[in-house]
Amino acid sequence: MPTKTESLNSDRPKDIARAAALLKQGKLVAIPTETVYGLAANGLSVDAVEAVFTAKGRPADNPLILHVTSIDAAIPLWAATTQQLAIAAALAEAFWPGPLSIVLKAASSVPNIVTAGLDSVAIRAPAGEAVQSVLQHCQFPLAAPSANLSGRPSPTRAGHVERTLGGRIAAILDGGQTTIGIESTVIDLRSEHPQLLRPGAISIDDLRSITGKVTATRPPGKAASPGLRHRHYQPVDINLKLANREMIETQWPSAAGIACSQHLALELGERRAPTWIMPDTPGPYAAVFYDRLYTMEHSGVTEVYLQRPPQTGEWRAVNDRLTRAAGAAPQ
Ligand code: AMP
Ligand code: MG
Repeated sequence: MPTKTESLNSDRPKDIARAAALLKQGKLVAIPTETVYGLAANGLSVDAVEAVFTAKGRPADNPLILHVTSIDAAIPLWAATTQQLAIAAALAEAFWPGPLSIVLKAASSVPNIVTAGLDSVAIRAPAGEAVQSVLQHCQFPLAAPSANLSGRPSPTRAGHVERTLGGRIAAILDGGQTTIGIESTVIDLRSEHPQLLRPGAISIDDLRSITGKVTATRPPGKAASPGLRHRHYQPVDINLKLANREMIETQWPSAAGIACSQHLALELGERRAPTWIMPDTPGPYAAVFYDRLYTMEHSGVTEVYLQRPPQTGEWRAVNDRLTRAAGAAPQ
């Protein structure tokens, strides 16, 4: 049944209070974080979390991340050893609030539906005044996957949320464009050496500076993290093709869409078909990537050649997302 989705603004204290009130009633509210907009629900309420899976059309085997104010709020949600908690605390000290989700064995208070039946739970303290204020009001952890229909690009603006979840959730708290633009780094602290499950803005080198050795490999044929198995980030009706320089040059006179660096576009000259200029450093690239995918959906082209960024470590998180947006198998 369609719901009227309230438009709230994160600059207004009464709208923050309204978002929290709706969450306390077990409703779903999209809220801005520094990574992407999250579809928040009371993370300790089975019914509220179930509604998240329904609204997103999210596969039941894809666990949710719990969002908390700080490490003090995270610790009771884990059933971990003193040593594991000490590493978690050191990471939190360095990177929280921020785009790092930490996986440890879940405490029994965490509902099974949150962890998709796994015995572990991912937790992070997000940065951003709006989400921190909502968390302060609520006093419970928020389960918050990206606020999009499952499989679509993650939302970095309130309008993106409206596009796929309007009429399906109670409210959207508009906080403008998110700064980081891609989802959090996920690290698992249960094995002998911490394991990187999903790359993000906190790089493997950042993590190593706190924990020493971090592994990023996994047994062949196994997805690193449950959610990585699923179709992700794909713009509707767009055949997105990863292209090298030569392919872009060949397609330049064609009617296909092209997304490439400013440098290459200037070199190749003017063209008529839609062309997206992509930033040439990883942070700014990540910040606009999903927004570019959403604009492609309205551009009139059905095929877009996307210039592959460099394959270096600093581009790891961006390359992960764009490979999957192009429908290629997770690397
Ligand atoms: P998102 O869809 O951005 O909210 O991210 C959720 C992702 O975090 C999942 O798809 C998994 O890849 C990862 N994740 C969440 N919980 C766990 C967990 N307990 N163990 C491993 N990965 C997890
Ligand atoms: Mg998602």
